[in-house]
Formats: sequence, C-alpha cells, structure tokens
Amino acid sequence: MRSPYTLDNPPPDEPPSGVPVPSLWRVQARWWRRHTPALDQRSVRRPVCGHCGQAWPCHSWACWDGQLGEAVGLPGAAEPMSGATGPRPVPESRMSEPSPIRARGRQLAARQQRQKSAA
Ligand SMILES: [Zn+2]
Repeated sequence: MRSPYTLDNPPPDEPPSGVPVPSLWRVQARWWRRHTPALDQRSVRRPVCGHCGQAWPCHSWACWDGQLGEAVGLPGAAEPMSGATGPRPVPESRMSEPSPIRARGRQLAARQQRQKSAA
C-alpha cells in the first residue's frame, strides 16, 4: 500500500495517532527519509536515491513507504484510542493453547512410548 507521504509532505517523526506500533513508525519514517533523493537531485529528470544510489524511487524506499502506508491505512487506525489503558483481549494466546483433549492424547502417547522402550 502506498503511503500518503511525498517528498513535499514527508512522514512526521512522531507517529500519527492510531499508528499500531509507534516505536516502529519512528524507524520506518527515518529510513523512508534516508532513501529519498538529495536536494539537488529532486529537480532532475531521473533522480537517484541519496542513500543507496539506485534510481529513485528505489526498492528500499518503496518498501518503507509501503509499511508506512499500512501503518496509517489499517482499519480502525484513525479511530481515537479509547480505553487504551484498560486490559485488552488477546485472542492469540487462546489459539496457541492446546485443547485438553489433545494434551491428554499426547500424555497417553508418551506413556505408551515409555512402556514400549522399557519392555
Ligand atoms: Zn535507496
């Protein structure tokens, strides 16, 4: 996803409100700015990246730009962070928990293996 940022309107140092990972934003924005043409390159027909020297927009810039675009374009990202201080549901932890039936099956299998190796 393209970000809304351009050379004339670069991403801000401080993440806009609603960015999912503010610390990541600072890194992404810094690299985005590094991979832009130097000032004297911006008016030429074929600018090159001031950091890696590739024809601009360079591959790295496009990657960072895409990440910034995703950070600001996530659904709900523009909504105010209501209840940010309260506990949040973490659905992922439930998914990694094995079901009791499967855990029981593994215990049985382990016991059978021990018995086999003992015999
Ligand atoms: Zn570059």
